[in-house]
Amino acid sequence: MSTDLSLTESEALLSRAEALMPGGVNSPVRAFRAVGGHPPFIASAEGCRLTDVDGNVYIDYVGTWGPAILGHSHPKITEAVCAAAQRGTSFGAPTAAEVDMAARIQDFFPSMEMLRLVNSGTEATMSALRVARGYTGRDVVIKFEGCYHGHGDSFLVKAGSGLATFGEPDSAGVPKALAELTLTLPYNDHEALAKTFAEKGDQIACVALELVTGNMGVIEPTEAFRKALVELTQKHGAVLLVDEVMTGFRVSRSGAQGLYGVEPDLTCLGKIVGGGMPLAVYGGKAEIMRCVSPLGAVYQAGTLSGNPVATAAGMAALSLLDEPSLYPRLEKTAAEICAGLEQVFGEAGVPVTIQRVGSMFTVFFTDKPVMNFTDVSACDHARFGKFHRAMLEAGIYLPPSGYEACFVSGVHGEAEVEATLAAAREAVKAL
Ligand code: PLP
Repeated sequence: MSTDLSLTESEALLSRAEALMPGGVNSPVRAFRAVGGHPPFIASAEGCRLTDVDGNVYIDYVGTWGPAILGHSHPKITEAVCAAAQRGTSFGAPTAAEVDMAARIQDFFPSMEMLRLVNSGTEATMSALRVARGYTGRDVVIKFEGCYHGHGDSFLVKAGSGLATFGEPDSAGVPKALAELTLTLPYNDHEALAKTFAEKGDQIACVALELVTGNMGVIEPTEAFRKALVELTQKHGAVLLVDEVMTGFRVSRSGAQGLYGVEPDLTCLGKIVGGGMPLAVYGGKAEIMRCVSPLGAVYQAGTLSGNPVATAAGMAALSLLDEPSLYPRLEKTAAEICAGLEQVFGEAGVPVTIQRVGSMFTVFFTDKPVMNFTDVSACDHARFGKFHRAMLEAGIYLPPSGYEACFVSGVHGEAEVEATLAAAREAVKAL
């Protein structure tokens, strides 16, 4: 309880938290620094609604940054978690559930001939990159500006002074020598990719990307870009690493790779696959995954990997994805919201470009198509901040940055669509 009556409970918690944790949070975006204002502290969540510690209720379009595709607190997931916890919360030894889980994941992602369960998306991408380096015996990785692959050192790198120059650390604490092994290219630029392979092809271990981006907002890969990714990695013996931590089970049952028919050498999954618990996966071609210890020389391990409670949540979530009406419903709801928002902004004369793939979408405050990070950076982010604050005030919880995606769940229905559009109609007046 706050003793300062002028503060809300969330504000009081934030001021306590700021003395204890950097920014008062356990992950930076939660501090709302990109949009201003104070983050509500969440007390509980059910279906597509969040309730904060002050009793405010929000329609949620963050969905715990992707995992909540079935809504929050799904009774089947909660039941599975409780039953598993009663049998033991961790064994550090193999279980039948891990075998079932691995087989189930393979049903969705046949390109994952062998795989490993880990605890977070960051761990999955870091491990996959090490495997790609171990397999190829090469050190250089190509990533794309605006794609996020967790906070592993090799991925926290920005572009150097020109294309195809070696990268520079994008975070203090990342060794320069390591950053120099990461090349950062513009997303959707197949020519830059071809040029880099022509110059450095025999040094490149891996090309890593979000095939549909979510971490700079929703952007689709062009056909030419997709073709170049596959052809150039094959030609030069580099590993194509598709990071589907966000898009897996989201943009389609079989992720972005299923949607576009791209077969990666390695895939990373996270978020939805754990049903809201800490679980992620990396895997791919058996020939590559056989490099992993104890079969091969690439070391990767984890005390809590394949944790029985997380695995039970993941298995329950994956079986719920089998409901035939789920993906058509997600598509329909997300399309209705986007069409409605387009109309609201259009009538208000506010230029926006709304980009959507399946149940992920982003409202970009620009009148141009958005194809890469430079385009996203050119959007009106101050205006996004105003929109965000007005929507939050009206009970709509959007991601607190113009560089993010909104997520729709299977339990967002007509009532939520209407409430969201009504709130947007008011919010545009503040822009
Ligand atoms: N890769 C992608 C595409 C992500 O969106 C994220 C997180 O948002 C990660 C990796 C890192 O996952 P985690 O936050 O579980 O470490």
